[in-house]
Order: sequence, then structure tokens, then C-alpha cells
Amino acid sequence: MSAKILYGKEFAAKIKESARVEVDDLKNKFGVTPGLAVIIVGENPASQVYVRNKHKTCEELGIKSEVIAMPETSTKEDLLSKIDELNAAADIHGILVQLPLPDAIKSHSEEILNRIDPLKDVDGFHPVNVGKLVTGSPALVPCTPAGCLEMLDLAGIEIDGKRAVIIGRSNIVGKPMLHLLMARHATVTVCHSHTKNLADVTREAEILVAAMGKPKFVTADMIRQGAVVVDVGINRIAPKKLVGDVDFDAAVEVASAITPVPGGVGLLTVAMLMKNVVKATKLQLKVKT
Ligand code: NDP
Repeated sequence: MSAKILYGKEFAAKIKESARVEVDDLKNKFGVTPGLAVIIVGENPASQVYVRNKHKTCEELGIKSEVIAMPETSTKEDLLSKIDELNAAADIHGILVQLPLPDAIKSHSEEILNRIDPLKDVDGFHPVNVGKLVTGSPALVPCTPAGCLEMLDLAGIEIDGKRAVIIGRSNIVGKPMLHLLMARHATVTVCHSHTKNLADVTREAEILVAAMGKPKFVTADMIRQGAVVVDVGINRIAPKKLVGDVDFDAAVEVASAITPVPGGVGLLTVAMLMKNVVKATKLQLKVKT
């Protein structure tokens, strides 16, 4: 058997199209243009590419985009006061601080991110949004796991009642994925580096999410026949070679559906960011999300 390959491009296009429709709706019904501010500190080339991509996607969808480039020498106080300014700006509905921050202020990342108004926290990292996700209130959810869920839905993959296993328990991917899948009535197990007999656990998964950051770690014998495999991992193994956490060539023979790397989940993150900007705008306007 060869699995159906879930290409991110196709799903990202659908997610962006639905965001574009909602942006038009907000403009027409409320006279409001959703606005995203992205703060980038320093000259990290990878961060610059990500920020350019976010800016371009905003423009494509009619979202107002403001990129605030701050010098490498910026202090924690500089960032906090910029965030305060954006929290108060009526035309900005989403605020994002591009990570990683420069070494000199890296240790303050949490304090800086937590200064963002939870209603404008489009990365979904603020403890208020984490708490809402856990308790099932409308929340801004981290873009990568939210994108994975959206993709499963768009692909028509049933979640209710399924056995799901997540490898990885980070705040950005693993933990929010747990709550998203559990809220949709999957029975979810989360594995991590202390999990014993990992393969015995992963072989139970009808939906397997790999988010560990270990190249090709998940081999075919760790996958249940017919499982849906979502590979979140992005690992650079050579200057121009990216691979996921799953040994794709072998896994494709066992799974019923699988995301490739590159070209899979990675493409959904920016699309979901756009949806989060729309959601943040609606939450601020007190319109149903
Ligand atoms: P973290 O490093 O924060 O977390 C990795 C998790 O994997 C940890 O919970 C760790 O366990 C677990 N882990 C590590 N080794 C093993 C092992 N041998 N067995 C079982 N579990 C293990 O990573 P992130 O969650 O931030 O990212 C995971 C991957 O996803 C990375 O490759 C990253 O690049 C990618 N990513 C992709 C995104 C996108 O597509 N846009 C966005 C975010 C991430 P423990 O907690 O015990 O240390």
C-alpha cells in the first residue's frame, strides 16, 4: 500500500482563501481591516525570510501588515514599550515577536511575549490563551498545531474516537496538539524523551504526530498499518536538505496518509497565522469566531 500524500500547499491555499473571505467580510460588515504587527530584532537571516513571508501573505489576503525592525542592541525595555504601544493601537489586531531574540535579551523572551495583550497574541503563546485552550474557551492557538488540525479536517480524516499519539511535548507543538485532539474526542497519548518502549506506544496510533526534531527517527516498524502520519519535524541534514522526524520513504508504504517534509505541515503555519489575525480581530470586535 502507498499512502495518500498530504501536500501542505493544497491545504494552505484553502486556509488562506477562507481567511481572505473573512477579511473581506470584516471590511464590508464592520469597516475594519485586520492588522498584524511583526517585531523583528536584529539581523538573523532566517528570521528575516520568515518575516518577509508573513508580510507577503498578509498583503495577498488584504491584511494590513506592519514590520517593525528593531536594532540588535535593543533592550528588554525597548521591546516592552513597543509592545505597549502596539497593544494600544486600534488598527493592530495581532502582534508577533519573531523568535529567537538576540542572545543579549533571549533570557527575557517569556516576559516580553507575555506583555502582548492576550487578545492580540496571534502566536497563541500567552498563558491566558494556553489556559483557554486547556479549558476549551475560544482561544488563539499556536499556528503549527492548529494548522495540523485544520489539515486533518480538510482532508476528511475522522478524529472522534481515534487513538492519537504525539511524540513531543513542547509548548509550541506537542502540548497544544494534545488539547486540540482531545477536544475533538480523540484518545491521546503524549510521548517524550523519557517514554519507555516508544515504538510500542506509537504502533497503537491511528493518528501519529511526530514533533521531536530528530531526523527520520520514526521508522516504518513504529507505525501502525493504515495510520495517518503528521510529520511536524523540520531537520536540516545538509545545507540544502531538509527532512522530517519520519522516515518518509519507508513510512509511505505503511501509512494510509502522510505529510511530506518539506512541503507538508511547514506550509500551514503562515496560513494559520492569517486565520489567527482574523480570529483576533473578531475576538476584539466581539464577533462570533
Ligand atoms: P522541542 O525541542 O521544543 O521539543 C521536542 C520534543 O521532542 C520534546 O518534548 C522532547 O522530549 C521530545 N523528544 C526528543 N527526543 C525524543 C525521543 N528520542 N523520543 C521521544 N521524544 C523525544 O521541539 P519543537 O516542539 O519546538 O519542534 C519539534 C520539531 O518540529 C522540530 O523539528 C521543529 O523544527 C519542528 N517545528 C516545525 C514547525 C513548522 O512546521 N512550522 C513549527 C515548530 C516546530 P522532552 O520534553 O522529554 O525533552
